[in-house]
Parts: sequence; C-alpha cells; structure tokens
Amino acid sequence: MTFDAPLRDYADPTLHAQGLWIGGQWLHGGGIPVTNPSTGRPIAEVADAGVAEAMAAVDAADAAAAGWRATPPRQRSEILRRIFTRMTEEAEALAHLIALENGKALPDARGEVAYAAEFFRWYSEEATRIPGEFRRTPSGSHNILVDHEPIGISILITPWNFPAAMATRKIGPALAAGCTVILKPASETPLTAYAMARLAEEAGVPPGVINVITTTRPGPVTAAMLADPRVRKLSFTGSTGVGRTLLAEAAKTVVSCSMELGGNAPFLVFDDADLNAALDGAMVAKMRNAGEACTAANRFYVQDGIHDAFVAGLAARMAAMTVGPGTDPATQCGPMITAKAVQKIDRLVSDAVARGACVVTGGVPLDGEGFYYPPTVLENVPQDAPIAHEEIFGPVAPVYRFQTEAEAITLANATEYGLAAYVYSTDLTRALRVSKAIETGMVGLNRGLMSDPAAPFGGVKQSGLGREGGVTGILEFMEPKYLAIDF
Ligand code: NAD
Repeated sequence: MTFDAPLRDYADPTLHAQGLWIGGQWLHGGGIPVTNPSTGRPIAEVADAGVAEAMAAVDAADAAAAGWRATPPRQRSEILRRIFTRMTEEAEALAHLIALENGKALPDARGEVAYAAEFFRWYSEEATRIPGEFRRTPSGSHNILVDHEPIGISILITPWNFPAAMATRKIGPALAAGCTVILKPASETPLTAYAMARLAEEAGVPPGVINVITTTRPGPVTAAMLADPRVRKLSFTGSTGVGRTLLAEAAKTVVSCSMELGGNAPFLVFDDADLNAALDGAMVAKMRNAGEACTAANRFYVQDGIHDAFVAGLAARMAAMTVGPGTDPATQCGPMITAKAVQKIDRLVSDAVARGACVVTGGVPLDGEGFYYPPTVLENVPQDAPIAHEEIFGPVAPVYRFQTEAEAITLANATEYGLAAYVYSTDLTRALRVSKAIETGMVGLNRGLMSDPAAPFGGVKQSGLGREGGVTGILEFMEPKYLAIDF
C-alpha cells in the first residue's frame, strides 16, 4: 500500500499508525486502511483489534484503575490541564490531521481542535469540584452522606464526524472522575485518536489510564468487553441504530450507558426574524462540517412572509461556497466521509425531487476523485419525503413553508429525534414560548451554534440518554454512594 506524502510532525498520518495503544505500549499491527476522503486514496493503515486485544485493553485499564482512582483530584486536574496545553501547542498539526482523514475544511478542523481541547481545560477545573451532600433525614433522627465515586472502567465509542471532540468530551470527564478508559474511535478517523493518546502520554497520563483500540469487528469486540464484570460504563456517540444495539448488549450485564445519538434538527424562521442573522445562523447550523454534524439543521421551516427572501439569500450563500479538499486553505466545504455517504445524500435529494421538490442550487454529486456533494438548497419539499425524516448528514438544506406558530411547532416535533433545534425570531416572548414547546435537549435561540464545554450537550427522545459537558458531564462517570449515618 502506498500513502500520500506525509506532512510534518504531528500532522504526519504515518506517525500515528503504529498500532493499538494498550497499557502505555504500541501493539503493532495493520489491517485497517485509512482513506483521505478528499482524494479517495489511502493515507495510512492502523491495527485491527480482535477480542484478545480488546481484553488486553480491559486488563490494562483494570491494572491502572486503583492508582488513578487514588490520584488526588488536584493532580488529575493538572494532568488534564497539561493535555489541554499540549493539544493547543499542536493545534495546527492536529487540524491538518483531521482535515486529512475526515476531509473537513481546515477552518472547521481548527474549530474542532479548539473545542476538543477545551474539554480538558473544563474538566481539569471540574476534577477538583466533585460535589457531595450532607443532610439530615426529614425525621431528624439520622444523617445522610452522599459521596460520588468513579464508576469504573469505561468504554468510549466515538464517530468519525468529530474525531477529536467526540473523544475528548468523554475522556475529559472520565479521567476527571477517576476512571480509566478504552477508547474505540471510528475506523474512518482513527489517526486523531492515536495522536491524542500520544499527547496525553506526554502530558503525564499514566500507562493504562487511556487505551485506544481500532477494529473492523466493533460488535463482537464491544460485546466481549461489556461481558467482563470489570467494565462498568459505556459512553457511546453515533447513530441511533447502533445505539439501540449497544443498549441491548449492555443490558445483559446491566452496564451504565450514556448515549449521544442521531438528530433531525429543525431550524425555524419566523416572519419577525432578522433575515441576515437567520441566514448567518443557517449557514453555521447547516454548513459547519459540510453538514456532517448531529446538530446540523436538517429541516428549514420558514414562515410564509419571509420564505422567499430566506430561500434566495440561502441559495446565494450556498452557491458561493468553495468546495474542495479539506486540507486546501481555500476550501469552505470539504468532501463527505465516504462514497456511500454521497450515494445516500443523492438518494434523498433525488427522491425529494421525484416527489415535487425544486432544486434551487446544487443537487447533483460532483464528478472526479474524492467524495463530493455540492451545497444544495431545495424548496417545495413535501413533508412525506424521506429527507424530512432521515438525517441528511451532508450540505443539503430542504426548506419548507409554514403559516402559523402552532403548525411550525407540530412540524418541528414530528420526529423520533430530539437533539437540537434552532429558532429565529425578534419577538422574545414568542422565541421563548416556541423554544420551550420544542422537544429537544438543546435549542439555539437566534444562534446557529450551541456546543460549549460548559453547557450540557445531549438529546431527548431517540437522540440519547445523559449529557456531556457542563457541570453534570462528570457525573455520567460517577456513582453516588450513600452512607446512612447514626451519630
Ligand atoms: P455509527 O453509529 O455508524 O458509528 C459510531 C461508532 O460506533 C463507530 O466507532 C463505529 O465503529 C461504532 N460501531 C458501529 N457498530 C457497532 C457495534 N455493533 N458495536 C459497537 N460499536 C459499533 O455512526 P457514525 O456514522 O460513525 O456517526 C454518525 C452518527 O453519529 C450520526 O447519526 C450522528 O448524528 C451521530 N452523532 C451524534 C452526536 C451526538 O452528540 N448526539 C455527535 C456526533 C455524531
């Protein structure tokens, strides 16, 4: 196998393809090719773990568990803070690595690295503020003492769309809580995970506290780890379908689960919205990561009076975007992750058009090497089209017209997903009323971006269980321990 020429230092893909990271050692091997979606060509090959290697990772996490749990919070905090510093020092190289293996445009990759690193800074601060409780029973006869203890060995499974941030949003709180972890990144984007394992080691994370394995057999490998009674937590980010499968698997040993799953975000624009602000927000909510985000605006519901101006403005901005390789500094919209992803988007758009939708801009996959789909705007999309119900995960904005506030809320809630929503209105009373009526875990109110390490990220309905980030994110990796006390 031949690879594209390496870039430099930390951005060199081959540097991070030296094997599985288990117990502070590289366990050499190959077997999983990593492709640059911008060219369709391989850039590296990473090791393919089977059940034996996964169980070796559980052994390593177990061997490190008691020591890490006993490490004073201040010391854990300082190590996490050093990972933040190392990630920040290597930010440009990491951004190149992400752009290379994921295909996202460099500005998006830089944004991701900054966001990802912040989880280490935030949880370095939270590590020293783990809450507890002391109170009297209502009868006044006894006392209640509640401590929070690390839950134990945690399996972290992450998707390819944010190769750094989805991992740090789990590793940060897990380590702050005192847990040791086994990270299984997506096979499409393993290099960033291995690069971060190196940075964590340089920052002083002891061997076995963070282990990283890649595999082409995630089902049996995860099942074997979940069956081991030492494993007490599964934190998963990915599709709702795989999340359901993993919940069923974890049920066998009653392993605690946190699930960050798919989305189908509505983006509501009312007649009284500031048009330019709504267009700015729409571009961020739709086009960050070329639409490959769980929070991506998937359905634009625009009120009758502002509809035509919004469609014209959105189409002009989308058509003006530069599509190209993620690593090209001029690129604003990179490729999709795989050829299959392009085919899925093409199917959703073609089906909508067959049902009467109009293509305002884009609408046809781009020829040539790499996996490109152009920024696309559709209008007159019928509500029964699959594009209104499935995650598009690409740069396509279907716009639907509505008349009344009640109609908009009904349409927004007509989905089994409930991760994110966006509301644009200058009427504060309406904006708050609608935000409360929408069934999602998060609402962007006159904002196209909601992710923040200090805020609780997560969904309701079939978008997930639990929250990451914020002050509660650390508690996903802890169990309350109640002592009933008689003085
Ligand atoms: P995916 O579910 O296909 O894969 C996610 C991870 O699960 C990968 O590491 C994959 O290898 C692994 N996996 C697949 N099958 C498995 C199995 N049987 N057992 C154990 N692990 C298995 O999702 P994807 O295509 O990588 O990512 C896109 C999806 O992730 C979208 O649905 C998106 O909305 C969702 N996502 C959600 C959030 C969130 O915070 N809610 C964030 C990012 C992405």
